[in-house]
Amino acid sequence: MNTTAHTIPPTVFVIFGGTGDLNARKLSPALYNLFLDGWLPEQFAIIGTGRTKLTDEEFRKNLLADLNQFSRSGKAKKEAWDKFGPHIQYQASDVKVPAAYEELSQRIAALEKEWGAPANIIYYLAVAPEFFPVIATGIAESHPDTDPNRVRIVIEKPFGHDLESARALNQLLAKHYEEKQIYRIDHYLGKETVQNIMAFRFANAIMEPLWNRNNIEHVQISVTEQLGVGERTGYYDGSGALRDMIQNHLLQLLCLVAMEPPVNFTADEVRNRKVDVLRAMRRFTPETVREAAVRGQYGAGWIEGQQVPGYREEPGANPTSSTETFAAVKFFVDNWRWQGVPFYLRTGKRLHRSASIITIQFKDVPHVIFPAETAEGWRKNRLIISIQPEMSIRLQVQAKRPGLDMMLNTVDMVFDYDGTYTTEAPEAYETLLLDTMLGDQTLFMRGDQVEEAWDLVMPILNSWQSRPSMSFPNYSADSWGPEVAEALIARDGYHWFTLPLKDNSKKKA
Ligand code: NAP
Repeated sequence: MNTTAHTIPPTVFVIFGGTGDLNARKLSPALYNLFLDGWLPEQFAIIGTGRTKLTDEEFRKNLLADLNQFSRSGKAKKEAWDKFGPHIQYQASDVKVPAAYEELSQRIAALEKEWGAPANIIYYLAVAPEFFPVIATGIAESHPDTDPNRVRIVIEKPFGHDLESARALNQLLAKHYEEKQIYRIDHYLGKETVQNIMAFRFANAIMEPLWNRNNIEHVQISVTEQLGVGERTGYYDGSGALRDMIQNHLLQLLCLVAMEPPVNFTADEVRNRKVDVLRAMRRFTPETVREAAVRGQYGAGWIEGQQVPGYREEPGANPTSSTETFAAVKFFVDNWRWQGVPFYLRTGKRLHRSASIITIQFKDVPHVIFPAETAEGWRKNRLIISIQPEMSIRLQVQAKRPGLDMMLNTVDMVFDYDGTYTTEAPEAYETLLLDTMLGDQTLFMRGDQVEEAWDLVMPILNSWQSRPSMSFPNYSADSWGPEVAEALIARDGYHWFTLPLKDNSKKKA
């Protein structure tokens, strides 16, 4: 989370999984845009690795095609690419073979010699999680004497499959690295609108007095996706919505909403306050899981005129799979600020629309002075933080409708990124990659944070695993999920909130 311009020392990015999807779609485009915006030091190199046999030139050509397709800055201009391309190398090697790390060391040593200076080395593990321990060990054993201030290791999601495996991975990493060297990525934390939650809460005096159980009735965090699992059933079937989304992204959003103000904006202060939230969250028992957590799996349907298969009919899927593609959970944070305020989290695939929104619903006025007929559309105040695709913060308030009679309706006070700023927001991976170079861990998960989040969801995972659902598939594509999710929130007198499509909302306002 860079705050001012910094001088970045010579840097080598080693990307394990250089031939993979994540590098093609996110990492290389992010590095290229950082280069375009002048953030990369003069002396930098990217070394991609993978088993595929490629020359440097072939690898560069592939990356150029990826940039042209995925970079937010559009097709690469020849002049810029001619400057960026020569910084890229490729090493064909298998991470299971120790010689791979020796060869990497030699390449890095050659670069340092050429630059006449020691380099910071960032190892990015964009590979399947089974390789995280292999690579972390391989790097450490091949560089036992390297100054810890110069070596960083970036671990992609998923960090563990459950509490036990997350602990084991943390222990293995701790054997070879100091915590300040470990960057556990949750790319949601790099999103512009997500970073803005902290600015909104802690840089404005008007929010803090309202931000507690006295004024807030409930909170919803909803991350819905229109896409199905598609070709990724191999990965997804062993994971599911709770592991894939709630344990990490949604709980991190909850932490940002619920955390106490940190003493200052340093990585450990911010992360301490987030861990406090996770530690305060009410643990589930097998009985409370049944009341507080529901799941779903999508069946076939139609989306925007296209017929789409159910989860069990996706390519390579297990036709009797009981993996959930939808999960909704009601959480409580047992502390002074939040006692009694429910936090409803939901996420799912193949839903009606893709949208990530946080809704803070405030309590009603203590006494309504207006006659009932003047306030047909009366709604409690809501603060809606829209993360994507719309990037906005809306405060819904009651207002008098223009006219001679006293009629009230709900209107939105809107801060919309599109209308407010002319500069394009950087991609989350740009922010996060820059932070790894700057050595700023604020937006990365600390080991204890990950373990607390796993500890919280384990009773749900265990309960669901021991009782496969008999009702799957229980929602159709293009719906808002299973009926049980509506019932979960309706029991408390609420409903899931969605934002109208932007064009409609403009017409409405
Ligand atoms: P992917 O497309 O399957 O790529 C896997 C990469 O690993 C390839 O470059 C492959 O290279 C390399 N690899 C596999 N076995 C290897 C070995 N024995 N030695 C050396 N390299 C090996 O996977 P991905 O989608 O990029 O995902 C990578 C990681 O990022 C995963 O942990 C995933 O969960 C995480 N992630 C991905 C995304 C995304 O958008 N794709 C988003 C969030 C998180 P070769 O085939 O050339 O060996």
